[in-house]
Amino acid sequence: EALYEPSEWGVAPLRFQGGRLVAVGDGEAPQRRVIAAPFVSMTEGTGVVHVAPAFGADDFEIGKEEGLLFYQPVDLRGEMMGDSPFGGRFVKDADPLLLDDLEQRRLLLRRDTIHHTYPFCWRCDTPLLYYAKPSWYIRTTQVKERLLSGNDEIGWHPEHIKSGRFGDWLAHNIDWALSRERYWGTPLPLWRCGSCEHVECVGSLAELREMATDRRAAKALTDLHRPFVDAIELRCPACSGTMRRLPEVLDAWFDSGAMPYAQWHYPFE
Ligand SMILES: [Zn+2]
Ligand SMILES: [Zn+2]
Repeated sequence: EALYEPSEWGVAPLRFQGGRLVAVGDGEAPQRRVIAAPFVSMTEGTGVVHVAPAFGADDFEIGKEEGLLFYQPVDLRGEMMGDSPFGGRFVKDADPLLLDDLEQRRLLLRRDTIHHTYPFCWRCDTPLLYYAKPSWYIRTTQVKERLLSGNDEIGWHPEHIKSGRFGDWLAHNIDWALSRERYWGTPLPLWRCGSCEHVECVGSLAELREMATDRRAAKALTDLHRPFVDAIELRCPACSGTMRRLPEVLDAWFDSGAMPYAQWHYPFE
């Protein structure tokens, strides 16, 4: 039995199915179970760890493998859901209240402070949360062999980088999480139709001007970065509906990686 049942707070449980998250059906009873995992050791702590697939990469992966439940009782401000008894509170401020609640229900074994490393925002020192949310990826794993054989042909200086830092990185390559949520940046060149959901990847400035609902505005646009480019709407080629740009920008490494090509204005000249 769970100490807290988020579905009582209006949090709908999801579960993994074929690598994707789907809603748990009405008649389907949420299940909790104990599983074995290599990232838990007997030499640290109790040897038992709570898995929360919405709040950590290991947790998410094991959730996907084992088909575990996925609960998201925290919003993007890091606050507990409004329906919970701790609703609207930042999670760290809710911690002592959660402990009080467990104590009152005689479910608390011990309360203590343990010092450990934790990520904080480098600008404002706010404690950060690992938070599972949808993102855009480039499936680099699909071209892994080409990347490795390409690396073999490169004359690296110093040479140890070839099979060392860079070769090792390519050998353990995972799909590139490409999108970032920022006010300013190189835009993800994707527009989605508001009527039929069709997504279009715009390949050039000429294409953007061609597809724009307001061609004059598209022609007048001199700065293609977000947020300026967001003003440009496109005509959907599938249904003639209005397409708006998806708000994400690109990982700045994309700009760095494109530099050798971009300096020659490839592939246009
Ligand atoms: Zn901050
Ligand atoms: Zn459409």
